[in-house]
Amino acid sequence: SNQTEQLRRKLMISVKGENVPSPVLSFASCNLPQKLLQNLEETGFEMPTPVQMQAIPAALVGKNLLVSAETGSGKTCSFLVPLICYCAKISSELPQDQKKPLAMVLAPTRELCIQVEEQAKLLGKGLPFKTALVVGGDAMAGQLYRIQQGISLIVGTPGRLIDLLTKHDIELDSISMLVIDEVDCMLERGFHEQLMQIYRALSVPQVLMYSATIPTEVEKMANSMVKELTVISIGKPNK
Ligand code: ADP
Ligand code: MG
Repeated sequence: SNQTEQLRRKLMISVKGENVPSPVLSFASCNLPQKLLQNLEETGFEMPTPVQMQAIPAALVGKNLLVSAETGSGKTCSFLVPLICYCAKISSELPQDQKKPLAMVLAPTRELCIQVEEQAKLLGKGLPFKTALVVGGDAMAGQLYRIQQGISLIVGTPGRLIDLLTKHDIELDSISMLVIDEVDCMLERGFHEQLMQIYRALSVPQVLMYSATIPTEVEKMANSMVKELTVISIGKPNK
C-alpha cells in the first residue's frame, strides 16, 4: 500500500518481491513469544533497527531473503528473532530425547560464529532453544556430542561443518531454516562450492542470506538456491 511505501522510503528500505509484509515499528507488534520480547529488552534492544523492522516480519511469514545492510546495522538479531521463534515453537512440542537440529547458521569465521551463538543464547534464554557451535579449533567429538544432546540451532563455519557431516551421521532432515551470514565475504573466501554442498545436503524450505553488499555473484547464488527470492536493501534510496 501507499502507507507501506512511504514508511519504507522514510526508513530507506528497498524491497524486491511479492507480498512482503510492511516494516514493523516495534518488536511487540511481531507476535513474538513473551519471553523473547523480554530477552530483547534485557539485551538492550528496545527498538528494532531498520533491517530488523523489515526482515523480521518477512522471515516470519516464510520468505526466502537476501538482505543487505551495512556493518553494525543489527543483521544478527534480524535473523535470530525469526529463527528462535520457529525453533522454540517446534521444540516445545518435542520431548528432550526427540529434539533435533531445526535451524543452521553459517558464518565465514570462528569468531563470527562465536558472536552469533552468544547473541542467540541471550535472546533464546529461558526458551526451549539450545545451540551448538561447529567451528575449527575445538575438538569435533565435543561438538558432535553437543548436537546429539538435542539442540535446536547449529552455528558453524562451512569447512568444519562439511568435515563433521562427512565423518558422522547427523540428522539433517529436521532442519527447516538456513541462514548464510556475510555471503559476500564467504564468496570472496572461495566458499561457494562448500555452501552449495551444505545447501544440497539440507534441502531446507527457507533460506535467509545476509550481506553488507550485493555483488552480482551473491545475487546469482541466491537465485540459484531458491525460487522465490525477496531482496531487502537498507540505506539505499528507494527506486
Ligand atoms: P551487523 O551484523 O549488521 O554488522 P550486528 O548484528 O553485529 O550488526 O549488530 C551491531 C551492534 O548493534 C551489536 O552490538 C548489537 O548488539 C547492536 N544491536 C543490534 N540490534 C539492536 C537494537 N535493536 N537496539 C540496540 N542495539 C542493537
Ligand atoms: Mg553481521
